[in-house]
Amino acid sequence: MSPPSEFRPLPPGSRDTPPSVVRPPSSSACPPCCDLGPAHQHDIIRLQDVTVAYGRRLAVDSVTAQIHCGSLTAILGPNGAGKSTLLRAILGWMPLSRGEIRIGDSHPQHALPRLAYLPQRVDVDWDFPITVRGVVEQGRYPALGAFRRFQAIDHQLVDNALAEMKLTALQDRQIRALSGGQQQRVFLARALAQGADIFLLDEPFAGLDAPSAAELAAVLKSWEQLHRTVVAVLHDLPMARRVFSHALLLDTRLLASGPVAEVLAPASLAQFYPAANA
Ligand code: ADP
Ligand code: MG
Repeated sequence: MSPPSEFRPLPPGSRDTPPSVVRPPSSSACPPCCDLGPAHQHDIIRLQDVTVAYGRRLAVDSVTAQIHCGSLTAILGPNGAGKSTLLRAILGWMPLSRGEIRIGDSHPQHALPRLAYLPQRVDVDWDFPITVRGVVEQGRYPALGAFRRFQAIDHQLVDNALAEMKLTALQDRQIRALSGGQQQRVFLARALAQGADIFLLDEPFAGLDAPSAAELAAVLKSWEQLHRTVVAVLHDLPMARRVFSHALLLDTRLLASGPVAEVLAPASLAQFYPAANA
């Protein structure tokens, strides 16, 4: 149910989102989580008994968990554990066989402008002929709806996002001509231009060299200070421990969730993966 191409700009249904439910984009550094007081104390995503199946095969089974506002949460688990499926469910792209997902007080379909998705690098057609600015402009399309044209505010938001991700000088380049780290920043800039404050990232570090990974880690860490909420699928335990505040351990069912130091403590991991060298 996810878009076949990452350059198809809109998740299913979002073009139908009436302008009235589109939160006015803010260039302010303070997303809604700030208004709730200190970060990490309020839940922004609530999963209750979330169950997703492909046909008869359960991909995510009875997951109940909360993601705190302004936290950086890593989703970890083996291949086929349902990590990507869970992200897609949070985005409202997968029907639930059972359970409920709430973004704040809303159903995901009514929170789409708040939710931004960074695809797995393998799902992106890097040869697609589009410039850096062209990708970032896609972030504005859901807010435009069917009739409104790009206006000064949209150009401004694209400029701001490019500047924040240090891409202004690269904006006319084709995306295939960038380094892996720069390409990830393009997608983060698209998410910022959208006006999102909740970022769902599928394996954002996969395929990056060490300097690019360190650069991306620094960006995400700085977002925590800005009360932006990040949920990222990871494979790298040291990276999760170093950068993320919370973790979900998934293997179709939820094995553990909570502060990263507890969930990824060697004793805790040994309980689930006795053979693994944590
Ligand atoms: P992960 O991201 O943790 O590797 P996925 O969410 O991609 O896991 O997949 C979870 C399970 O669902 C796997 O068994 C996978 O084979 C299956 N699956 C994923 N996508 C589809 C699909 N489009 N159709 C059928 N089965 C799928
Ligand atoms: Mg996956």
